[in-house]
Amino acid sequence: IKDKLARSERLATVGQLVASVAHEVGTPLHSIAWHVEALAEEPGVTPEMQKRIGIIEEQLNRVVRIIQDLLSSTRQRKPEPTWYPAERLIEPVIALMEPGYHAKGVALHSEVAPALLAWADAEKIHQVLVNLLTNALAATGTGGQVTVTVAMRPASADERERAACTGRSDLDTVVMLVVADSGCGMPRENLERAFQPFFTTKAIGKGTGLGLFLSREAVVAHGGQLTLESELGTGTTVTVVLPGMPSESAAT
Ligand code: ADP
Ligand code: MG
Repeated sequence: IKDKLARSERLATVGQLVASVAHEVGTPLHSIAWHVEALAEEPGVTPEMQKRIGIIEEQLNRVVRIIQDLLSSTRQRKPEPTWYPAERLIEPVIALMEPGYHAKGVALHSEVAPALLAWADAEKIHQVLVNLLTNALAATGTGGQVTVTVAMRPASADERERAACTGRSDLDTVVMLVVADSGCGMPRENLERAFQPFFTTKAIGKGTGLGLFLSREAVVAHGGQLTLESELGTGTTVTVVLPGMPSESAAT
């Protein structure tokens, strides 16, 4: 299972890389296409030039098609959330990460409030939690600790509004998944950059700089939010907020 996860993470990462390169390349391509078209309409274009412009346009269209195919083949699957028991979001991830934590001598604790449902695509949220726990482990030295806490609270006005945008106008409760580490923390100037794609402070081959970027994208696509607080030398706390409800009311 660990190999499978590592593989799916690598594939997702390659996909994201291709997608973002394709996206970046798309912008100058469109500019070239636009200028070539304008050039063809300039006065004094000879038939010979017209023919060459035609060839450029044809080849450009080919490149654009290739890029579009690449983009559509690698686009991330959209989350398909359901009401999912919060403890079942956490337990498999803890079980998966525990050996790595144990090997490094970092304690991994979880405190999950019972009878909570989160509006979650379990596969996506598992991946988010694996990303966060991988980051926390990397930042925390032997003897340190990482805690995963799950709790419920009333939704803020802001959160209700965001949930309404994803078709959930009935939201009055949210579930918070909090990953707190006692690790190295982050300098202030890295706090905002941490969410940029490809921002990493890790050695080449160790980090992709996509974990937080993809995690935030996935959570936002659920109608939720992912935020990070960090103090250098003290630790980092990442909070995932998802629409939630107590499980007694699941039937309604
Ligand atoms: P990666 O882990 O591949 O570097 P991420 O997007 O997961 O990419 O994280 C980006 C950067 O944010 C990391 O390289 C690290 O500098 C910083 N970071 C993320 N999580 C933590 C954490 N829990 N503690 C300290 N720094 C962190
Ligand atoms: Mg990471």
